[in-house]
Amino acid sequence: MRKKIVAGNWKMNNDLSATEELVAKLQKKLPETDAEVMVAPAYTNLFTAFEALRQSPIEVIAQNMHFAENGAYTGEISAEMLKSVGVQTVILGHSERRAYFGETDDILAKKVDAALAKDMTVMFCFGEELNDRKSDNHFKVVESQLKNALFHLESSAFKHVILAYEPVWAIGTGETATPEQAQEMHKFIRETLAKQYNDTVAESTSILYGGSVKPTNAKEIFSQPDVDGGLIGGAALKASDFIAIIEAI
Ligand code: PEP
Repeated sequence: MRKKIVAGNWKMNNDLSATEELVAKLQKKLPETDAEVMVAPAYTNLFTAFEALRQSPIEVIAQNMHFAENGAYTGEISAEMLKSVGVQTVILGHSERRAYFGETDDILAKKVDAALAKDMTVMFCFGEELNDRKSDNHFKVVESQLKNALFHLESSAFKHVILAYEPVWAIGTGETATPEQAQEMHKFIRETLAKQYNDTVAESTSILYGGSVKPTNAKEIFSQPDVDGGLIGGAALKASDFIAIIEAI
């Protein structure tokens, strides 16, 4: 059975003391849940968060990594470096990485391979822009993002892949896909996995929704049959909101 997951992407927010504070609040208030809960602090705070959450079911994950093992890549971080501070899961392909840092499907395919080669789990983000949806190209765009960055993988690799559908027009905008739009796309993604691989991969891969999920809309989105949880940006920065979203699942 596929896992339910609620993950918080803190992006470039929270210095060390704010990280300690937020982590402590989450640990204290974490509700009973069968969902996996993950948080993605900035690189500089990963180790502190990992140490603080050692006894907690909350997993500390990274927001990005480089595909090379090491070398002359000033400012970059490798899979081994993440693993050395306790990180086992990495977000790849976030729309902000694609838009502001030029990450293409080809680069992402290399990053996916590098993370999986080090036995990490990949949370792979993808989603269409507003123009794609307006021109009714959203299914085509999503399918090509999956094909170009993921579909070279063997089916067995999908045990270590979590998908996060994040329509770009809904990220940080306050605009959310309707539960019906989310379900329609998640169903399409599952069917695409079944076509490319098989029903087992399709049925066992968690597909998260991301894009302005809040305590007020989380329950309706999470209740869609093909939505297995959420990747949360803004609302993950406030402990009470993130906790309410976890409660909603
Ligand atoms: C995100 O950045 O992954 C995200 C979903 O952000 P927000 O919840 O703020 O839209």
